[in-house]
Amino acid sequence: MPSDRTIAHAPWLKQPSTLKLLEAFTASGGRVRFVGGCVRNTLLQETVSDIDLATDLEPQQVVECLEASGLKAVPTGLEHGTITAVVDHHPFEVTTLRADVSTDGRRATVVFTKDWHQDALRRDFTMNAIYADPDGQLFDPLGGVADALERRVIFIGDANQRLREDYLRILRFFRFGAQYGAGHVDEAGLQACIANADGLERLSGERIQSELFKLLAAASVLPIVKLMADARILPRLLPGFHSIAMFEALAAIEQEAGRPPDPVLRLSALLAGGSPDLDPLAERLKLPNVVKARLTAAFDDQSKINVYTDENELKRQFYDRPPELVTDKILLAWASNPQGDDLAYRRALEIAETWDRPTFPLSGTDVLSAGVPEGSEVGQVLSAMKQWWIYQDFAPDREALLSEVRRYLAGSS
Ligand code: ATP
Ligand code: MG
Repeated sequence: MPSDRTIAHAPWLKQPSTLKLLEAFTASGGRVRFVGGCVRNTLLQETVSDIDLATDLEPQQVVECLEASGLKAVPTGLEHGTITAVVDHHPFEVTTLRADVSTDGRRATVVFTKDWHQDALRRDFTMNAIYADPDGQLFDPLGGVADALERRVIFIGDANQRLREDYLRILRFFRFGAQYGAGHVDEAGLQACIANADGLERLSGERIQSELFKLLAAASVLPIVKLMADARILPRLLPGFHSIAMFEALAAIEQEAGRPPDPVLRLSALLAGGSPDLDPLAERLKLPNVVKARLTAAFDDQSKINVYTDENELKRQFYDRPPELVTDKILLAWASNPQGDDLAYRRALEIAETWDRPTFPLSGTDVLSAGVPEGSEVGQVLSAMKQWWIYQDFAPDREALLSEVRRYLAGSS
């Protein structure tokens, strides 16, 4: 139903790329409306990250319409009716109005339609089925505006049935609760998610991963993660899940220290301490190798950092480790010791993140010219010199290091 609210003030509505896209549709006689996150987030005064549109043109017509206006059309999800229009490097996801005729819990077979109401009914939550005309006038067939403003994440139709169509909606329910529901969830929706939790096993790792990382970085993640742990959903989702205690502490630390949420670090805080077996988790979530390596390093006891020491000793611990690992270690140690001395952790973080690490002034060539024969000894001498330099608090310059090399060689011959 038409709503008297508009989002005509939204800056993205008037940006040149959006106007060019709209002109292409006007020229081809197709009807187009904005939908999904861009409309919902504008209403909620939250950042708009991507722009989705719905149209009554069929996918092939969308491609023709875009190309006729010289715009690029990428068939990203043709079988679901989605074309990505790229205008001045801005992507817009344009999806043909559709109804999902059959679903298997993972993907849908779709039919295209001209019926906006039907298109609304195949979406997941009422707050995600609000449309806006090119002039910003809202079309709100399912009462999504009121739900969005009240921050209610409500399934469209029967929650159980909607979950059986696509079990990813379980995760989306929690993710939207954490992002836009202020950490509250609708009880009927929650019960349906619990009842259908077996379906999570059928989802691909990539889809889980993408929703999970958005969830972990969300504003009101804490109450939602608690709910998911109590509902035994977290243990089914995360092989190696331990408890939410460290996660809670980490989220509080990040917030207090004004740090942006870090989903990978937050994920590690949910896992068992010590050296958990990360293989099943990496396999289940199809984690990229860099993420798996980061988690592995975060649990590696060899690189533990002791923050209860002076500045020089902190720098000695930090020097040879990747800065990101140092930060991860400090934050995780802090989160696992919430009764500890905040000041010590805070100071360690500050030093780790602001210290401009000096460059080791000696090279292999220097060592060779000091008389060390080519071969593995060069590396050994360099490494010994580096250790000495670090323990001299990075003070010795190249000259001092060269004389230390000579002293070292004299001593070892
Ligand atoms: P975000 O800001 O994260 O992009 P969004 O609401 O735009 O949020 P998208 O994943 O981009 O989320 O999806 C766009 C729209 O498509 C959603 O608002 C919703 O209407 C619909 N949608 C996406 N995924 C599903 C799903 N699994 N089931 C039903 N509808 C979905
Ligand atoms: Mg979107």
